[in-house]
Amino acid sequence: MTTSKEFSACVAHYDPNALPVVAAQEIVRQWATPRTRDAQIERVGLHDALDRVLAEDVISPIDVPAFDNSAMDGYAFAGEALAGGAATLGLTVAGAALAGRPFDAAPGAGQCVRIMTGALIPPGCDTVVPQELVTREGDAIRFSTAAIRAGQNRRLSGEDLAKGKPALIAGRIVRASDLGLLASLGIGEVSVHKRLTVAFFSTGDELRSVGETLSPGSLYDSNRYTLFAMLKRLNVDTVDLGIVRDDRASLEKALREATERADVVISSGGVSVGDADFTRELMNSLGDVAFWKIAMRPGRPLAFGRLWSGVRAGTGESALFFGLPGNPVAVMVTFYFIVREALLAMSGATRQPLTAIRAISAEPIKKRAGRTEFQRGIATRNDDGRFQVVTTGPQGSGVLSSMSEANCFIVLEHARGDIDAGDEVEIVPFDGLI
Ligand code: AMP
Ligand code: MG
Repeated sequence: MTTSKEFSACVAHYDPNALPVVAAQEIVRQWATPRTRDAQIERVGLHDALDRVLAEDVISPIDVPAFDNSAMDGYAFAGEALAGGAATLGLTVAGAALAGRPFDAAPGAGQCVRIMTGALIPPGCDTVVPQELVTREGDAIRFSTAAIRAGQNRRLSGEDLAKGKPALIAGRIVRASDLGLLASLGIGEVSVHKRLTVAFFSTGDELRSVGETLSPGSLYDSNRYTLFAMLKRLNVDTVDLGIVRDDRASLEKALREATERADVVISSGGVSVGDADFTRELMNSLGDVAFWKIAMRPGRPLAFGRLWSGVRAGTGESALFFGLPGNPVAVMVTFYFIVREALLAMSGATRQPLTAIRAISAEPIKKRAGRTEFQRGIATRNDDGRFQVVTTGPQGSGVLSSMSEANCFIVLEHARGDIDAGDEVEIVPFDGLI
């Protein structure tokens, strides 16, 4: 684990009033190391393995396929019969091989075996001529030798997965195809990392929970719901600690409880200029937390570091801490571009960069050089197959409806200025993400 001193050193290297997004990402990356203790690993059956992170390589215990078999419905024969140079080849059908019902004998010279897809290639045979290429009369078939080469239409044993070779690598997030692949190896259980536990809460005297009545000046807490949903998508266990009032004692209690119960603590609100003072003082007493003004929009104020639940920093349980800004869009943007990678790394997953694709901006976009902007966009596919994108309109960081309306983030890089209509921009699609 990185020590407090190292943390301070790596953070001190940058200007905390204008930290570029890539620098913040790099610092978080250094800090978010996988939990490595044995106790963090469990065995699960295939149905429970979906979306989990493999803790060990899966070595193939068998060849898949386990035997040479036919890729087509047709006739199996010895490919050397093609060597004669005749324009057509005639063979007699000696029997049939079906999937699961092999033909055990080697056919004689001038003979072939009727064979179905997936059936074991009979002894002495190495080639399958597809039935569409053959004319058959009674037990005799004939086909053009130009249409087929020796060895064709045969799936070799071990061609999909070879015995003794890694079939899936540790750190992989198990997908639908992987469940099938594991089943094809006869493997019913795998070792996976235990789920990461993430505690989260909202801060603000103005916040009310769903079900409460709004008084003048109050608003419903939406961040706990977006955070819950984004965390669920990453398949982590969540602890919802509710709304925390804007006072030191409540915040300290929430942070200690969160640190005791979770690997990662995420708060929203209370890190902007007015709030930061008592938060900052508290963070310093609970751990090693740096306040950043990241050169990004939305999402500028953010706190990051490590918290301890004990009486002094360095004692008790520890957790990585992200103090996100309060604005609902800023919470989502900072989650995806700053927090997400840390949660995946701590879960034991190999790096999963966000999918970014190029699109043409259909309109001019105002952009200030010197910060990364994450606008909400609606991307569509042109007739020529390329993507074009427009913004959802007003980009205020409180306008959560812009996230629901959008289908992608438009990521406008740090150094870039205004965008003209027709310029290329990078988009990160929401599909599979949000
Ligand atoms: P703060 O970062 O605490 O200054 O909050 C910035 C803005 O976000 C304020 O307008 C807050 O009312 C709003 N806000 C903070 N937390 C939440 C929340 N959990 N749900 C909805 N809005 C929030
Ligand atoms: Mg607040």
